[in-house]
Amino acid sequence: MRPGIDVECREVGLRDGIQIQKVFFPTEGKIAWLTAEAATGMPEIEVCSFVPPKLLPQFADAKDVVAAAKKIDGYTIAALSPNLRGAMDAFEAGVHKLNYVTSVSEEHNLANVRRTVDESVEDFKRIVELRNEKAPDVKLATGLATALGCSISGQVPVADVMALAGRFFEAGADELVVSDTVGYANPQQVKEMFNAVIGEFGDKVPVAAHFHDTRGLGLANVFAALEAGCRHFDASLAGLGGCPFAPKATGNIVMDDLVFLLEGAGMKTGVDLDKLVQVREIVAANLPEEPLHGMYAKAGAPKGFVPATQAA
Ligand code: ZN
Repeated sequence: MRPGIDVECREVGLRDGIQIQKVFFPTEGKIAWLTAEAATGMPEIEVCSFVPPKLLPQFADAKDVVAAAKKIDGYTIAALSPNLRGAMDAFEAGVHKLNYVTSVSEEHNLANVRRTVDESVEDFKRIVELRNEKAPDVKLATGLATALGCSISGQVPVADVMALAGRFFEAGADELVVSDTVGYANPQQVKEMFNAVIGEFGDKVPVAAHFHDTRGLGLANVFAALEAGCRHFDASLAGLGGCPFAPKATGNIVMDDLVFLLEGAGMKTGVDLDKLVQVREIVAANLPEEPLHGMYAKAGAPKGFVPATQAA
């Protein structure tokens, strides 16, 4: 974690937020977005996904976006890849961090990446080997998708999450991301899950949270995870996003509201909240049909509100 901050927010809008958008988000717009958001003090931005353009044309410009992202200093450039082929491209492009995702639920993994969980773990081991050989400085984060529920198989046992987390840790993961991919979780469940995962792995690798606000409990889940000791949170500016396998899923939790929550709770994020809200205009200009979420942007700051980052 960057020195001087208490909690690390990570923007995933440029990947999770726009991957199911039918409209192509123009490359220049993506670059304007990440440039403006890096300037707010955002410590980490997932800028794209390395997947075949045939599968997800939205990320056909992944290399150009990473090249532009690298011209800016002071933040971690992350990219997602579901397989070795994409990881190869991401390492070549020069990302700082690679996010690899596997669903805890076998059915969801087959639907999402068309492989069994075993096959995904084996592929991750090959990615670790490649990283060690070609890009030893790149961090490898493993997303445990559907860790808090699956739209295909329903409830997901804590034991299954712990088992997959253990396999990834043993294989060389630098970070574990517990993901409520389809927005099923409630705060009580989150507390139990994060107590378990942080209890087992928290002193070895960062344990991060990835929540969706599908059923309105996203920020409540953040607070539950915070209380369990989680200090790394994914979110998407204006709450963009969804999941192709989660019918009617709304997006990721809203980054601007997340920063408001954390700063109000006295935790420094290092992010300038007012500047962050202005970045929404770039998203609106490039996705004019897309509804933007977020209550802080609508209502503004409470009278006398001093963000923890500014109080320092
Ligand atoms: Zn997500």
